Amino acid sequence: MNLVGESLFSCNHCPRLMNYARSVVPPPRFKLWNYWAKPVPGFGDPNARILIVGLAPAAHGGNRTGRAFTGDQSGQWVVRGLYEIGLANKPESVSRDDGLILKCVYVTNAVKCVPPKNRPTNDEIKKCSLNWLIKEINSLKHLKVIIPLGRIAFYSVSILLGVKADFEHGKEIEVGKYKVLASYHVSAQNTRTGRLNWEDWLKILRRAKELAEC
Ligand code: SF4
Repeated sequence: MNLVGESLFSCNHCPRLMNYARSVVPPPRFKLWNYWAKPVPGFGDPNARILIVGLAPAAHGGNRTGRAFTGDQSGQWVVRGLYEIGLANKPESVSRDDGLILKCVYVTNAVKCVPPKNRPTNDEIKKCSLNWLIKEINSLKHLKVIIPLGRIAFYSVSILLGVKADFEHGKEIEVGKYKVLASYHVSAQNTRTGRLNWEDWLKILRRAKELAEC
């Protein structure tokens, strides 16, 4: 379920990102795909107590499939992890109509349009967070735990909630009615280099489940 509605799809605050989203060229393995190429909505349980916030859709992941954490390696880590702890009905996230159901969890990105080289500017992060991520947070009436993945998502959540702390993997920060639980991003850059291994990722998810009482 897209919590912010279809108005997201016509957002035009960041011309640089919109142009880039439309310019992504499919590699041979995706040549039959009609790329989504517009702002990518989050999805999950509207009664979620856990919110996972990534950086932005991947060029050939969310920007192709039209759903956050769908069709790329980061999505596989997120969804397989949720499946292992009983918060997803299947271990894979491949397309918008794959039947995936998340329980107690909503997943989204700080920036809804794919940025070149995965690097949005601070201005783009602020614009998107203040326009869209805040609406998602406010729509989740039972939200207890927010997991920002990596420094950019942590920065985004910090702007919105007024967090003063620095990013540190595993750090728990109480902010009003929320607990922020920081994690390294599940990107290939972190998982292939061993900065984030599978067991440490499951520890983050299990801790979130415990804190949120899911
Ligand atoms: S990144 Fe966010 S604010 Fe910028 S155009 Fe996309 S949806 Fe709009």
